[in-house]
Amino acid sequence: MTSPSLLALAHEVATTWRPRADAHDEAGAFPEADMADLRASGLLGLLVPTHLGGMGGGFEDYVGVAMTLARGNGASALLFNMHASVTGALAMVPDEVACALGVPASFLATRDQILSRAASGAMYGVAISERAAGSRLSALETTYTRDGSGYRIRGHKSTCSGAGHLDGYLVAARDATAADAGPPVVSYFVVPAEAIGSIDQGWDPLGMRATASNGFELDCWVDQSALVGVEEVALLLAEVMPEWLVASYAAVYVGVAQAALAAAVEHVAATSVREPTCDGAPRLVSLGTSPWVRQRLGRADAQVEAARLTLEEAARQVDANRGDPQTSRWVYRAKLLAGDTAFAAAASLTEACGLGALLRGGELERLLRDTRSGAVMPPSSDVAANVLGASVLGVDPSGGLGARPW
Ligand SMILES: Cc1cc2nc3c(=O)[nH]c(=O)nc-3n(C[C@H](O)[C@H](O)[C@H](O)COP(=O)(O)OP(=O)(O)OC[C@H]3O[C@@H](n4cnc5c(N)ncnc54)[C@H](O)[C@@H]3O)c2cc1C
Repeated sequence: MTSPSLLALAHEVATTWRPRADAHDEAGAFPEADMADLRASGLLGLLVPTHLGGMGGGFEDYVGVAMTLARGNGASALLFNMHASVTGALAMVPDEVACALGVPASFLATRDQILSRAASGAMYGVAISERAAGSRLSALETTYTRDGSGYRIRGHKSTCSGAGHLDGYLVAARDATAADAGPPVVSYFVVPAEAIGSIDQGWDPLGMRATASNGFELDCWVDQSALVGVEEVALLLAEVMPEWLVASYAAVYVGVAQAALAAAVEHVAATSVREPTCDGAPRLVSLGTSPWVRQRLGRADAQVEAARLTLEEAARQVDANRGDPQTSRWVYRAKLLAGDTAFAAAASLTEACGLGALLRGGELERLLRDTRSGAVMPPSSDVAANVLGASVLGVDPSGGLGARPW
């Protein structure tokens, strides 16, 4: 369970975010003020070990904090999610496992430097997605080649939350020299801000607008210590640590769904309608007296709580049994339910509230748009359900039935 003091800290930050959320959404730009609050709170160091100046949190802590932050502003919480995915994945591979995999000491030093900087306020993002490949790691076209004492990385990333505003980026690229016929060799690099190329400025989506998720060019040289661990680690991590690629988004979308329910309750409680009567003049009644409205609130409440409980179970399993196939199933269940529930609940709640909840500038209207991205973010709901279906059939999703998600 996330400690009450961490939840209180996240709640304090979310409370400062909420009044600014509509303006950030309208601008569709990087939410500087929200990120300054996050930095000041120390939460950028949530997953950084205490000996490196952080809070030493685990995945359950992340889930509690991210859900709470998302109730203030989903887009800002999504930026926190990307940063947490980088710092969490780096912090949670035990040194013994890293050494057994042949990770050089130079990388362990770089990793500790990245984590210490995060605890002091540096912010990181993730640059996997590409136009035709989406986030399918094995289909990426960005390449790296060995070049002197480092690597040259070339390609174009289509979508990266916070592009141009962060201190470093986790970039996925494939080895250009690996044989075309074999499986691709996909590795991660932490690329410093000054090494990324020109940034696209076209981000203007339906929802989660204030994430500034622009693409960028890459044609840079990085030192060998920028390689995360060892080459070919990306697909392995997706399999044994799916939480940072899969369930971390779930926390954001469950939080947004909770915010939509709270906004709908506020709207219903504050709204009266004129109701026709059979035997006299119409009368003014609270919207909450309608059984049709109440049943939508009731269904949304049950759906959102089910998604939250599934996510919290997944988080418990991750902290207790990381890498276990059963844990993976919980992780995929959590992502699937969060993405589908957030949008279904927000759509039903806006229908219950009527046009008043669909006018531009209203909180519920923004939340409805924000929830639309949940099922699209990787793995999409269809892909997550396909992986789960394969595992229900007893088939290894990465090898059988063409269910390979990455
Ligand atoms: C708000 C927001 C922020 C984002 N931030 C980042 C970020 O910081 N970093 C980043 O790297 N990306 C980011 N993304 C991009 C996100 O990861 C992409 O949406 C994702 O990669 C999917 O790509 P796509 O939407 O183009 O569709 P695709 O993945 O190409 O999906 C299109 C269709 O193909 C299906 N499909 C996908 N995979 C498979 C498969 N394996 N087998 C069969 N069918 C499949 C899908 O279900 C879908 O129906 C962000 C997206 C959003 C909406």
